Amino acid sequence: MPEKNPLNGIITQLKKLPGVGEKSAQRLALFLLSLPKKDVHEFVNEIGYVRDNIKHCEKCYNFTFSNECFICTDITRSQESLCIVAEPKDILALERTCEYKGLYHILGGLVSPIDGVYIETLRINELLSRVKEYPLKEIILAINPTIEGEATILYLTSLLKPFNIPVSKLAYGLPVGSDIDYADDMTLQKALSGRQEVI
Ligand SMILES: [Zn+2]
Repeated sequence: MPEKNPLNGIITQLKKLPGVGEKSAQRLALFLLSLPKKDVHEFVNEIGYVRDNIKHCEKCYNFTFSNECFICTDITRSQESLCIVAEPKDILALERTCEYKGLYHILGGLVSPIDGVYIETLRINELLSRVKEYPLKEIILAINPTIEGEATILYLTSLLKPFNIPVSKLAYGLPVGSDIDYADDMTLQKALSGRQEVI
């Protein structure tokens, strides 16, 4: 029986990555095989280690290896400002701008009844506990300007109103329907620094 292509296995695995088709997978497989064995083992081990040990921060739900993430444990960051985002990737994007030095809260998604995401499936109770607990002077809604994002902003705005804390959302400049994660750093920095109060 003729031997199967020995690269088939690695190509199948690489095709699981988003945006990677057969051709890219072949190219990546050949690239990986051109690396020293040590580098390939490091690459694979790192992914395995992170996957096995990663968990959510008990406070903000960002990724962490311990109970609290590097942002929540950073004593130089302001405890008076809370930025609400949908997903961990939004924190990565906002941190790249170096504009914000407060804390975050990850909702775990946006309201989207069509996808079965209702407000009660988001981390709203956890958010309200933090709003009560922290000496907040500002809440920023750093949420994508999409239909789902606007619906979530409306809901959060009415929920946060009784706390009498100024609430702002990112300024226009972010294209409607866009994703914070895809905005270039300069646009995001301007959207953040020009944030507009909604309460
Ligand atoms: Zn955290």
